[in-house]
Amino acid sequence: MENHNPDCIFCRIVKGEIPAEVIYRNDHVLAFRDIAPAAPSHALIIPQEHIASLSELEERHRDIAASLMLAAGTVADILGIRESGYRFVFNSGADAMQSVFHIHGHLLGGRQMGWPPFPGEAVLHG
Ligand code: 5GP
Ligand code: ZN
Repeated sequence: MENHNPDCIFCRIVKGEIPAEVIYRNDHVLAFRDIAPAAPSHALIIPQEHIASLSELEERHRDIAASLMLAAGTVADILGIRESGYRFVFNSGADAMQSVFHIHGHLLGGRQMGWPPFPGEAVLHG
């Protein structure tokens, strides 16, 4: 596989070396359930190629980036949350608390959510 990182937990899931509850797979992406769900429905959608974060995405990854976005609706459909609604979140870097450095979109749904990320706090620099 192109650009596989043997030390990356999500690359190992792509290769089947670590078990995961796979929901969907196509040529570019893999979707599986998050091991510690933060919502009633919580899937991770990842590129099969190792790319550390959104900040590492390059022009040559255009097809992969499109596939990640297009997979969101498909996976939401499989999870039964396409109509009720969902959030598709990419944490990138320290301030966003990214903990696994292989791009992953969190697909979250199954109940009403809140917004914005800092409820009740004034945004000092808008
Ligand atoms: P981050 O904090 O980087 O945005 O999200 C990483 C996510 O990966 C977390 O929600 C965490 O629960 C999930 N995760 C970490 N290790 C594993 C694993 O081995 N299997 C699965 N299915 N999810 C994992
Ligand atoms: Zn990886």
